[in-house]
Amino acid sequence: MPELPEVETTRRILEPYLLGQRIQQLLHQDPARYRNTERAEGRRVLGTSRRGKYLIIHLDENLELIVHLGMTGGFRFEPHRHTRVTLHLPHQTLYYTDPRRFGKWWVVEAGDYREIDLLCRMGPEPLSDDFTLAHFQQALRTPRKIKEVLLAQEAVAGVGNIYADESLWLSQIHPERPAASLSSPEVRRLYKAIRVVMERAVEAGGSTLSDASYRQPDGQPGYFQFQHNAYDRTGQPCKRKGCTGRIAKIVVGGRGTHFCPQCQQNSR
Ligand SMILES: [Zn+2]
Repeated sequence: MPELPEVETTRRILEPYLLGQRIQQLLHQDPARYRNTERAEGRRVLGTSRRGKYLIIHLDENLELIVHLGMTGGFRFEPHRHTRVTLHLPHQTLYYTDPRRFGKWWVVEAGDYREIDLLCRMGPEPLSDDFTLAHFQQALRTPRKIKEVLLAQEAVAGVGNIYADESLWLSQIHPERPAASLSSPEVRRLYKAIRVVMERAVEAGGSTLSDASYRQPDGQPGYFQFQHNAYDRTGQPCKRKGCTGRIAKIVVGGRGTHFCPQCQQNSR
């Protein structure tokens, strides 16, 4: 599932193709999923940004085109058999593919996110100055499991299943710990781990998993999967120096969760 690094990578690659261009046509056959897109036709792209896992394309006339890639959404420069939306620009056509169709598009007045509930509640960007230790400490004052708190997007934006598992591994915290039970040093470790993991993952162009659903628009995979320490490594030896554990998989908050039972213990 595309998380912050995959969406940010997509944004960086698409931006030069979008900037200053007028959207000529935006074609699809699913107006319930790709909402009010006719309003984007004829509009000029002023810039792009990202909030959490949402890609935001800023248009003139005070409009925003917002894309959520869902589980398997992504952009391509070439037609693809799962193309759901075709976006015609003067010099380039972009093909939005989404085999499983969980992705969504919206065109809204700039900043009016009433239709997109999660965008209204979204926590700070982990790589921005808004993401402070004080805010993070405050957001963790809940009995909910730490992994669930990370996935909820309110403590920090853009962390999904992969990067939650990686951040918890790096900070040696069991994914089922009640968030409020984390000590100050643990909160600090997790806070730093989220930034480190996200920075490295963006640098590597995100993660392309064995299902190969995520690819960069030019068809290239991401490379962060080779740096995974926990995610998708069930049964493999823990990579932490001196640890003899093996990565285990459990379900937390309905999501497959990978961790090392030896160096991420629950009884603290
Ligand atoms: Zn370990």
